[in-house]
Amino acid sequence: MNETLIAFLYLIASVCFIMALRGLSSPETSRGGLLYGVVGMVIAIVTTVALPIVQSYWWIVGGIIAGGLVGTVIAQRIQMTALPQLVAAFHSLVGLAAVAVAAAAFYAPHKFGIGEVGNIHAGSLVEMGLGVAVGAVTFTGSVIAFAKLQALMSGAPLVFTGQHILNAALGIAIVVLIVALIVTQSQAAFWALVVVSLLLGFLLILPIGGADMPVVVSMLNSYSGWAACGIGFTLSNSLLIITGALVGSSGAILSYIMCKGMNRSIFNVILGGFGTDSGAAAAGAKSGDKPIKAGSAEDAAFIMKNASSVIIVPGYGMAVAQAQHALREMADLLKDEGAKISYAIHPVAGRMPGHMNVLLAEASVPYDEVFELEDINRDFAQADVAFVIGANDVTNPAAKTDPKSPIYGMPILDVEQAKTVLFVKRSMASGYAGVDNELFFRNNTMMLFGDAKKMCEDIVKSLG
Ligand code: NDP
Repeated sequence: MNETLIAFLYLIASVCFIMALRGLSSPETSRGGLLYGVVGMVIAIVTTVALPIVQSYWWIVGGIIAGGLVGTVIAQRIQMTALPQLVAAFHSLVGLAAVAVAAAAFYAPHKFGIGEVGNIHAGSLVEMGLGVAVGAVTFTGSVIAFAKLQALMSGAPLVFTGQHILNAALGIAIVVLIVALIVTQSQAAFWALVVVSLLLGFLLILPIGGADMPVVVSMLNSYSGWAACGIGFTLSNSLLIITGALVGSSGAILSYIMCKGMNRSIFNVILGGFGTDSGAAAAGAKSGDKPIKAGSAEDAAFIMKNASSVIIVPGYGMAVAQAQHALREMADLLKDEGAKISYAIHPVAGRMPGHMNVLLAEASVPYDEVFELEDINRDFAQADVAFVIGANDVTNPAAKTDPKSPIYGMPILDVEQAKTVLFVKRSMASGYAGVDNELFFRNNTMMLFGDAKKMCEDIVKSLG
C-alpha cells in the first residue's frame, strides 16, 4: 500500500471518528454515531495491518483472537451498572500499552526508525518520556478507580498529612527523570520514571471520594487518550495521534462539563480528600430516631392518579433493579389518567454519564419527556408528585446546606419543592456518597420501601 493511499484511508477513518463523537452527543443520533465509529475502526485496523512496517501477522492475529474473545465474553456478561469500572479497567490497559510501546521503542529504537540504542533522537525521547509518564499514571490510577467502583476497596477518600506535598514532589521527580532520560538514555532513568509515575497514579486517585468518581473516570479517559497520542508519536502513526487527541480532548471536555455540573473546579476534584470530614457520619448519627412516613404501592397509585403533573427522577437503584420498562408502563397508565409526565436527569445520576438516558431510551421513553437538570429544576415547584426511583444523592439538599458534606456544592434536583415526594428504595440506606438524606424525614415525603421494579409493577396493578 503506498503512502498516499494510507494517508487518505487514515483521513477517512479520522473523519468517521469525529462523526462518531458528534453522533454520540445525543441519544437520537447515537446509533448513527456508533456505526461511524465501527466503520472508522474497521478502516483503521485494515489499513494498519496492511502497512509495509508489518512483517509478521502471527502476533497480530493472536492478539485479535485473544482480545476479541475476552472482549466478547465481557461485553455479553457485563451489567449496565458495572460499565464505569469496565471503562476504568480498559483505560488501565491503554496506559499499560503506552508503557509497553515506549519500552519496546527504548530497547529496539532502530525498529521504530528513531535511532540506535544509546543514541535515540532527542525528540523521540521527549515523546517516550511523556508517553511513559502519562501511561503509567493512567494505569495505576485506573486500577484504583476500578477497585473503588467495584467495591474491592472502600470508596471513601484515603488521605494523609503531607499528601499534596508528596504528590507535588513526585510530579517534580517525573520532570527531572524525563530530563535525565533525554540526557543519559540510561535504563535506570527509564525504569525510575516508570516506577515514580506508577506511584503517582496510585496516590492521585486514592484520595478521591466516590462522589467524584464520574469525573475521575472521564479524566482517566482523557489521560488514556493522551497516552495513545504519545504512542502514536513513537510509532509515527498519524491516525493514532489524531484518535488519541480526540479521546484526550473529548475526555477533558467531559470532565469539565461534569465539574461544572457538580459546581466544582477540576483542581478541587484532583486534589481530592472530599468526604473525610465528619459530615457523613454526623448526618447518619442524627437521623436514627426521626419519624418517617412509609406507604404502599396502592398509596402511591392513589396519589399519582390524582396528580396532574408527575416528575420522575431515576437513579442508580432503577438501573440495578432494571425497572425502566415497568416504570414506563406505569407512566403510560398515568398519562392515560391525564397526568403530564416528565423525567428529570441529573448529570451524575447512576454510575456513568448518560446512564439514565440509555436505560430510558431502552424502554422507549419518548426523548421529549426527558429533561436535563437545568431545564426542569424550576418545574418541581409546580409538580404534584416527584417520583424518585432509586435516586438518592442527586436529590440530597445537604449539597446546598451542609458545607461539611462530601457532596456540598453539587447542584441537585429540587424534588422537595413538589407537593408530594415519593422515594422508591429498599431501606433507609444512604447512596453512593455515603450521606444521609434528610428529605426522607420531611412532611411531604412518603417512602415506598421495596425493589424498584417490583414497586412499579405493583403500582401498575393498582392503577389498572
Ligand atoms: P445513589 O447511589 O445516591 O442512590 C441510589 C439508591 O438506590 C440507594 O440509596 C439505594 O437505596 C437505592 N437502590 C439500590 N438498589 C435498589 C433497588 N433494587 N431498588 C430500589 N432502590 C434501590 O444514586 P444516585 O443516582 O442518586 O446518585 C449517583 C451517585 O453515584 C452520586 O453520588 C454520583 O456522584 C455517584 N457516581 C456517579 C457516576 C456517574 O457517572 N453517573 C459514576 C460513579 C459514581 P437502598 O439500598 O435503600 O435500596
